[in-house]
Amino acid sequence: MAIVLFLGILVGAVVNRLGSDLPARRPPRLPECPYCGRRRPWYQWVTLPAFLIHRQHCPSCGALISLRHPLVELGLAFLFGFLYWRYGLTLRFVFFALYTTILMLITITDIERRLILNVVTVPAMALAIMGAFLTGHLTWKSALLGGVAGYVILMAIVLLGNWLVGPGAMGGGDVKLAAFIGLVTGFPMVIIALLLAILSGGAISLFLLMMRLRSLRDPIPYGPFLIVGGWATMVWGTEITHWLFR
Ligand SMILES: [Zn+2]
Repeated sequence: MAIVLFLGILVGAVVNRLGSDLPARRPPRLPECPYCGRRRPWYQWVTLPAFLIHRQHCPSCGALISLRHPLVELGLAFLFGFLYWRYGLTLRFVFFALYTTILMLITITDIERRLILNVVTVPAMALAIMGAFLTGHLTWKSALLGGVAGYVILMAIVLLGNWLVGPGAMGGGDVKLAAFIGLVTGFPMVIIALLLAILSGGAISLFLLMMRLRSLRDPIPYGPFLIVGGWATMVWGTEITHWLFR
């Protein structure tokens, strides 16, 4: 377990780099301060220990490392630990941990830049097809059907949304993310994932609208709702179905 938690922190550090470098369309490079551009010292490459020993400021300009970095490292350690506890050292654990890593990366780019990149979603889809063959947590028919259903249903929602509130609320990135989630959860479970995403996204949007924190025209990133719905369905799909339809 200690190794798995440690691995989660290290993978989190890599995801943090990719989350900064990929949207800027540059190859991944060593961590640097976004304010003064100086290369970070080695003890800040993984930021969680740097925060713990109070070395969370850039040594040359004093800027604080964004809190996103330790949160992502801590979050992935926790999620990896949970998956290991639930599935043990199995192929399913390996693939679910990879899916979790990809979803974390998409969460970062969607919240910070409102981007869901093809360079992430397209390989993710290929990995999910491979995962369905290798882990056997669902049949390849169920996986492919889930991917197509996720793609088609979200495409319909995006077209409807664009027609109702104008273009820009959701885009092609969300559609490909839904296809990836469909490949991971399979059919008919993908319906549950999308339902959870629509319910939670709708509830939060409504809350923000009613509190006048956002207007209808302000874009809200919907990727995180798809991701939370998809991840929960990947892990607890059967339980959620029983609970909804008992
Ligand atoms: Zn600096």
